[in-house]
Amino acid sequence: MPHLSRRQLIQTLGVTPFATWATPSAAAPLATFDVVVIGSGAAGMTAALSARQQGLSVLILEKASTFGGSTARSGAGIWVRNNEVLQAAGVVDTPAQAATYLDAVVGDEVSAERKAAYLAQGPAMISFILKHTPLKFRFMAGYSDYFPELPGGLAGGASIEPELFNGRLLGSELARLTAPYLAVPPGVAIFGGEYRWLNLAAVNARGVSVAAGAVARYSGARLRGEIPLTMGQALAGGLRAGLLRAQVPVWHDTPLLDLHMDSRGRVDGVWALHEGQRQFIAARRGVVIASGGFEHNLAMRLRHQQQPITTDWTVGAASNTGDGIQAGQRIGAALGLMDDAWWGPVIPLPEGPYFVLSERSLPGSIMVDDQGQRFVNEAAPYTEFVHTLYRRVAQGRSVNNWMVIDQRMRNRYLFKTSLPGLGLPKAWFDAGVALKAATLEELASKMGVNPATLRQTVTRFNAQAAAGRDLDFQRGDSAYDRYYADPAVRPNPSLAALQQAPFYAFQIRPGDLGTKGGLLTDAQARVLHEDGQPIAGLYAAGNASAAVMGRSYAGAGSTLGPAMTFGFVAGQDLARQATA
Ligand SMILES: Cc1cc2nc3c(=O)[nH]c(=O)nc-3n(C[C@H](O)[C@H](O)[C@H](O)COP(=O)(O)OP(=O)(O)OC[C@H]3O[C@@H](n4cnc5c(N)ncnc54)[C@H](O)[C@@H]3O)c2cc1C
Repeated sequence: MPHLSRRQLIQTLGVTPFATWATPSAAAPLATFDVVVIGSGAAGMTAALSARQQGLSVLILEKASTFGGSTARSGAGIWVRNNEVLQAAGVVDTPAQAATYLDAVVGDEVSAERKAAYLAQGPAMISFILKHTPLKFRFMAGYSDYFPELPGGLAGGASIEPELFNGRLLGSELARLTAPYLAVPPGVAIFGGEYRWLNLAAVNARGVSVAAGAVARYSGARLRGEIPLTMGQALAGGLRAGLLRAQVPVWHDTPLLDLHMDSRGRVDGVWALHEGQRQFIAARRGVVIASGGFEHNLAMRLRHQQQPITTDWTVGAASNTGDGIQAGQRIGAALGLMDDAWWGPVIPLPEGPYFVLSERSLPGSIMVDDQGQRFVNEAAPYTEFVHTLYRRVAQGRSVNNWMVIDQRMRNRYLFKTSLPGLGLPKAWFDAGVALKAATLEELASKMGVNPATLRQTVTRFNAQAAAGRDLDFQRGDSAYDRYYADPAVRPNPSLAALQQAPFYAFQIRPGDLGTKGGLLTDAQARVLHEDGQPIAGLYAAGNASAAVMGRSYAGAGSTLGPAMTFGFVAGQDLARQATA
């Protein structure tokens, strides 16, 4: 495409019938759309598509020079019970069962109306995405709900993820796709649901066939001339492709600065930094804040969250600094869950925090505190893990904890991206984040832990592993604990003795996928004022809003499922609003 001015580009994209263009001045808007969406993650892109398919003109403002935010970095699991993809896969479920489960997981912290709206609108959202984007989804078979033993829980799982997406459909926009959190090894196309088997490729025939399938999938796509994308890359790419088709422009490097209200208190536009100028962009119907969480805003984290806290332990997108939450707060919006996050234990590696998912469940690993004692079910859902960790910190315990493994574990499973049996990166040891020793006592000394205590902890754990029952923390009892475990290990697939030297220890810190507190919304995704009334013209979805999951995490995809659902809901509701 030849170089076009922004005005020409907008005209080429065909939004001029809806959007008007004005010379920037104090009084006149730079541009006018029916809807202005802040942020191009899953929440924002779904909201934009939803409003656009209702015939509204929509503009997305994106602070970063790339689109996709944390969504593009993610595994792209989506937890939406009773959607058509699950039904086609034969998952047996009912809306009543899903409601029972969500109530049991979330409790009363979130209004019944919001929970009901999520469950009712989620399946409609998935059908909408299937209809209006090139995305297809697949069932993540066996990816257990995170509390499958609660009433209504599904041990076989209810999560879906994108099928292979052809990045070529994005044309030159592909270059603007935010990079993934973990680079996929060259020559493979891996689904999130396959990751558990890839971990086991050195010890399990299914792991080998899954790995071979991932190579074949990649080469097949390349032979067809495609650029194969999976997980968050596929989700963000597919949503963006839907927006391209629907002719929704995304203005990059254009951060929201502030919301604008008319004399009646209705949000009718935004102030944004555009090409170095503070500009007013008018929104006839309203504004959707989908600018992600505040994981990278240290001041906000210090103000709202338990300490110690830092921005160094999050794996969320760097541009998520709570701008939309703060803009809403400045016009009186109520906030919720600001002290919470989508927590998970991380290893603070020199190249960036590593979110520990499977290694906690795989046999041959334990977590210990700075005294050398176990303190948690290592395989517990990651948000609960960190809740436990912080509860202990509140009681005076250290935030510095360790994961300890033995060489047998290292020989059998992937560790991050390090292949089984191979050495771990020297930089980890140089940084002191990873330690290695010939004996447990020597390892304990390096950790600054009493050697006798660590020996005692491991001896007790080893005996319980041999018996197959973790009497102290019940690791491996839940179907969720066993999802990332090794089915060949008996009697408990998540438990094996640590006995083969050398031994390794890795620093563990309370990290997160992003924050989950933000603007309080109602069942229509309308932002609520502190007085409890909706703020006219203002919507929020995704991590900019207080999570419908409350303090918990129901299953794989519990952030993206609600983010997309309430983005969808916001777009539909905007279409019902009168023009300002
Ligand atoms: C490694 C990793 C794996 C994950 N795996 C999963 C998973 O499998 N399933 C799941 O449910 N969740 C997962 N998550 C969490 C999930 O990705 C996020 O919770 C989700 O993407 C949030 O979506 P969002 O649309 O609210 O925000 P984002 O996707 O982060 O998008 C927000 C966008 O807003 C932009 N923005 C910020 N400030 C401004 C501003 N002032 N003006 C304009 N734009 C702004 C940002 O640049 C960003 O592009 C994972 C996260 C990570 C990091």
